[in-house]
Formats: sequence, C-alpha cells, structure tokens
Amino acid sequence: MASHVVGYPRMGPKRELKFALESFWDGKSSADDLQKVAADLRSSIWKQMQAAGIKFIPSNTFSFYDQVLDTTAMIGAVPARYNWNGGEIGFDTFFSMARGNASVPAMEMTKWFDTNYHFIVPELGPDVKFSYASHKAVNEYKEAKELGIDTVPVLVGPVSYLLLSKPAKGVEKNFPLITLLAKILPIYKEVIGELKAAGASWIQFDEPTLVKDLDAHQLAAFTEAYAELESSLAGLNVLIETYFADVPAEAYKTLTSLKGVSAIGFDLIRGAKNLDLIKGGFPSDKYLFAGVVDGRNIWANDLAASLATLQALEGIVGKDKLVVSTSCSLLHTAVDLVNETKLDSEIKSWLAFAAQKIVEVNALAKALAGQKDEEFFSANAAAQASRKSSPRVTNEAVQKAAAALKGSDHRRATNVSSRLDSQQKKLNLPILPTTTIGSFPQTIELRRVRREYKAKKISEEEYVAAIKEEINKVVKLQEELDIDVLVHGEPERNDMVEYFGEQLSGFAFTVNGWVQSYGSRCVKPPIIYGDVSRPKPMTVFWSSFAQSLTSRPMKGMLTGPVTILNWSFVRNDQPRFETCYQIALAIKDEVEDLEKAGVTVIQIDEAALREGLPLRKSEEAFYLDWAVHSFRITNCGVQDTTQIHTHMCYSNFNDIIHSIIDMDADVITIENSRSDEKLLSVFREGVKYGAGIGPGVYDIHSPRIPSTEEIADRINKMLAVLETNILWVNPDCGLKTRKYPEVKPALSNMVEAAKLLRKEL
Ligand code: GLN
Ligand code: ZN
Repeated sequence: MASHVVGYPRMGPKRELKFALESFWDGKSSADDLQKVAADLRSSIWKQMQAAGIKFIPSNTFSFYDQVLDTTAMIGAVPARYNWNGGEIGFDTFFSMARGNASVPAMEMTKWFDTNYHFIVPELGPDVKFSYASHKAVNEYKEAKELGIDTVPVLVGPVSYLLLSKPAKGVEKNFPLITLLAKILPIYKEVIGELKAAGASWIQFDEPTLVKDLDAHQLAAFTEAYAELESSLAGLNVLIETYFADVPAEAYKTLTSLKGVSAIGFDLIRGAKNLDLIKGGFPSDKYLFAGVVDGRNIWANDLAASLATLQALEGIVGKDKLVVSTSCSLLHTAVDLVNETKLDSEIKSWLAFAAQKIVEVNALAKALAGQKDEEFFSANAAAQASRKSSPRVTNEAVQKAAAALKGSDHRRATNVSSRLDSQQKKLNLPILPTTTIGSFPQTIELRRVRREYKAKKISEEEYVAAIKEEINKVVKLQEELDIDVLVHGEPERNDMVEYFGEQLSGFAFTVNGWVQSYGSRCVKPPIIYGDVSRPKPMTVFWSSFAQSLTSRPMKGMLTGPVTILNWSFVRNDQPRFETCYQIALAIKDEVEDLEKAGVTVIQIDEAALREGLPLRKSEEAFYLDWAVHSFRITNCGVQDTTQIHTHMCYSNFNDIIHSIIDMDADVITIENSRSDEKLLSVFREGVKYGAGIGPGVYDIHSPRIPSTEEIADRINKMLAVLETNILWVNPDCGLKTRKYPEVKPALSNMVEAAKLLRKEL
C-alpha cells in the first residue's frame, strides 16, 4: 500500500530559508550561500520522507518565493517592465518580479484560495512570448535522483495557472486568458519531455481551481488541455491533485474523464462531499490518492477514523489502486513539533506538524497493507481520547452560554442614526472628526522592552512604567496634532491576535509553529484547543490609564472574534462558528468592562472578516451570517451613548457591503486609499449607508508623506457621495510599521485638511 505527500513547507524547521533569503536580499550573503541553504533544506526534506517510508515523494514543491511565480518563470512569462532578455531566468529577474526593484514595482500578490498563503499573480495577454525559461522542475528532480531518491515532480497545472492569472496592463479586462492554453502547453510538453528523459515515472499536476465555481467553458479547458498533453505524457503516470474543498459534481465528471490521467487526488478533510462522489462512481483504471491527513491544521490525525475511511475506499477502488495522502500541501501547516519546547506534553500529544504528518501518512498506508504498527495506533488512540475528555478542552459554562445564543439576533435596541445622535451629545465632535486606527510606530526600544519583560529580564514595574511612558508620549502627540478621537497606540501588543490569545483560556502558543504567508514572511498562528473564556479583563488597565491622561475621547481597542478565529489554527472537533461565538462572548465581557471603566468609544477590529469567505458562492451567505452575528454579539449590550467602531483592512468590500451594514457598528474605518474609485462607486450606485464611515485618506503601507491638498481632495471626493455628518477622517490602517518622521507630518496634514474643509462646509 502506497503513501504520498502533496507538498512540503520550504521555510525549514527554524525558518532557515527566510533568514538566508533576507540576508541575500540585504547583500550580506552571496547567491551561492543562498543556493546552499536551499539545497540542504531540499535534501533533508526528501531524506526525511524517504526515512518515513513515503513512496511518492514530491519534488519542485520547494520555492525561493512562490510556486506560481516559479511557473511564470518556467514558461518565461516575464512582464516587459523587468527588461528580461531571454535565457534562463536568474535571481535578479525572479526577485524583481516578486519584490520589485529600485525602478520597477513588484507583481501583484493575492491570497491562495482560502489560505493565508499569497501567490504572485501572473500578468498575461495576447502578446506574451512564452519560452522555456526555468529548468527548476527538472533540476530538482535530478538533484533528488542523485541523492538516490526518485521523486514525483510537481507542476502547477496549466489550466489552474491560467485561471489564476490576470490580464496584463494594457490588455483588455475581459481578455479570455484561457485562450493562451495553446501557447503554454508546448512549454509544458518540453518540461515533460525532459522529466521523462531524466527518468521520472510519475508527474503531479496541481489543479486546485477544480474545486471552485467553474463554468462549462472553463471545465472544457481541462478536457482540452490534458487531451493535448496526452501523447507527451504517454509512459508517465499522471496525478491530478485537487484540494481545499470538494470537487463540484460537474467538475467531477470532467476530472474523472480526463485523457492520459492515471491518478486523482482528493481532499477528504475539507472536501466533505468528495467521499460521496467517489462512492457514486470512480474510474476502475485510475489510482485514488486519498487526502486523509489534514494539511491545513496542526492536529494529530484520528488514525482509527482515517483507517475506516480508507478501508471503505479500498472497497470501491480496490487495494492496489488506493494511495494514502495528505489533504493538500503541508505548506499550510507548521513544520516540526520536535522544536516545540514550551508546549506541555498533554497538548503536544494532540498535535502533528508536517514532519509528524508524513509519519501518520505512512502508518496508515502500512496499516492498510496489513502491517499495522499497534503501538503507534494505540498511542494515537490514547491521545485522541485524552483530547476528548480533557477538562482543559471542555468548559460547561462556556458551552451553555454559546448554545444559549441560538435563536437571537443580538442587535442593539436603538437604530444607528438615533444612537449617533446620543453619542454626539456626549462626545461633541466637530464634523469630519479625525482619528487613527490604533497602533503608533513600534520603535526598536519598545520591542526590546516587551521582549525583555517576556524573558523576565526586567521587572513588571519597569515594564509598566515604560509602557505608560510610551502611551503618555502618544497621547501628547495626538493632542498636539489636535486629533479628535485618540488611541493609546497599542505599545503593549506584539500582534493583534496573539495579545488576546495569550490572555484567553483555550489558546496555546508555539515557539516555532511558523507558516509561510508570502515570500520570506511567516506567521505563527495561535492554537485554539479548548472552549474559550476570559479569566480577567485584558485591556481595561491600559485603556483607562490612557483615558485618564486626556479629556478627549480615548478609543478602547479590541480585536474582533472573526479576526481572532481566521488568524488562528482552529479546533477540528466543533464547527468554526461555534468557536467564533465563544470568542465573541469573551470579547463581549471585555467590551462591557471597558464601558464600565468609562471608555465611551470602543473599536473592535475585524481586519480579517473578508479573509474567511469560503471558496464557493453557495457557502458565502452562511459564513457571512455567523461572522457578522459574532461581531454583533460583542457589542449588543452597550448603551446608546457608547460608540462602537470597527476597522477593516481591505479595500474590496463592494460585494459584501450588505453584510458590513448588517454588522451595525456606529463607525467603520476602512482601508481605501489604493482604490478610492471602487469604494466610492458602491455609494454612487445608491447603497444607503447611515453609520459613520472613515475611508482611509492615505496609504500607510508607503513611507510617502501625503500633502494637505491631496488629502483634502480625497475627502472632497467622498463628500460628493456620502453625507457630511457621517464622514470620518483617518489613515488607512495602523501606524505600527511606520516611523515617527513619517507619521507626524502625515497626520498633521490630515488634520489640516479636515480643518480646511470644515471651514468650507
Ligand atoms: N488596531 C490595529 C492597528 O492599528 C489594526 C491593525 C489592522 O487592521 N491590521 O494596528
Ligand atoms: Zn487595517
């Protein structure tokens, strides 16, 4: 019985690739140094899989930046602005596309399906001259072979590649990118030819777009593409890998009838309906790669349950046609549990990172073949049982409170316009009130203080004094700038989710549980393992201190439940929405304590609400419904005079505007400055928005200082479509990553612009 892994993290167990890349980019090490680190990582991963007994070991899942960009390089689709002169693409051109260079900006980056990984979006059009310009796939296959390991080279499938592309600048928006198939397939054929010549016997094409909503045309492209490749693929076993969801019924028909294909991979974790589809009929001549080990989460597999699933599948496709696999590439989980020195042994026994998951895959394959490792299985069963019964996981009171939420909408008693009236009586703000999003620059000194306090190198008193000093400084600065609604600057927070997770019950933290987000950037999501509750107030101390320093309103600053959920590894033993409701109840406690402490404006950030949108249209309404409901739970109990703000970090909200209205916040601040027109068009089209709204008036991602005129201009454009009395003036997002010499003049110009316009109104 065979085992397979869809793909593996590239970063290394201690982010070795990150550090090598950044040192190379900084000019501190050579290209050879970087190549050496990369080769060592690849070889150790291959050897690890070989030692675990994996039969189908992937190659070419390594990347110096992103696998989609690797494909762009493979077919030579370099946008003209990078002045590439042909030949094999080197680091210069590759990293210029990824990150931009002194004279040219980078290519666009976007979310990879519903993960937190971001890929570089190909820019294509009728004039692109494709050529075979990166031999990476073949080189990596050969490299593994020299180590004595025969791998399965992995390519991003040609159809998914095109469906994930966008028309290049100057190309018509509705240019049918799929018509480029005929131009890119000849290059895929060259690659396939070289792989065969090098001795490959299998090849894997990742075609995850098959799980999305596709029309008949798009589906036909798959049929066409693989028919066209059939003769080149002759002699190879061809695996088409799908992941992240089930394959819709129509797509399943297309997929199972593709020419030249000998194996299909399915996600049996997220793809709830895949099992039924397979039971309904699976081609007898094809292998089934069954993704039963979760590539998106950190939980140990329930081996007994997976074995039962596999045995059922074996009944359908036959013993020799079933291969045990991961649900998707392990890129989306943490790398190796071995390096978690701070987790206690009970929680650790419930977890499996990538290195442990490959062992699970192989254990399942062996068990199916009749060589069950009884010891491994019973240790696993014991861990599963301990997780189910642990008092650390279950909190009856929380479960009851969450269950009691059902059947109610949790809306504030009064409508938003009369609430705004009551709030205005209390706050007495000018029109076009100014504010910021929360964080102020985090200096090296500030980061040092937090780090030393965590490491117990400085005392609590010293830490509190340093943070108070910082808050004082930030408050003084805002008063000098004459900002209307102040913030405390968030100096006590390393990260907007971690800060809350560390204080809530039910969360655990890793030291090395990094997951690649884009390029060399990684995130370290908290692990939600149990029912969530709030043992004691989390922000009241700092917020009331900050409020005591000023007579102006000071915003209490919280992260919302949906954002905490979407940026964490979540429980797999209850639905996401239940976990979200629990977090909402904990945040509700905090909101009410802030209110009691005299904080009259409270901002609940939902930066990641949109990120949780499901892959398919049919599932959107359900998600938005519970996500928005969770937000309302947090603040439905406050008085009319308490002003609830929220903040969102994306500009593209036209399609979910009705859900945003349904959040029923008093004020929303929203990232906007890179797409004024888009946002304004919603209101131009007549969407009624009665709550306060602050579309960011300048881009905080850039060090550039916006002028007063330019900001005033922006505000004027918004005034043309929005009522004067609901408009707020604020930057796009928090100022954490900026420097004071940028922030001071930018905010000063922002306030001046607001004052200028107030006179005219
Ligand atoms: N309040 C947070 C800050 O200002 C919001 C960050 C975000 O939206 N990503 O940093
Ligand atoms: Zn933001």
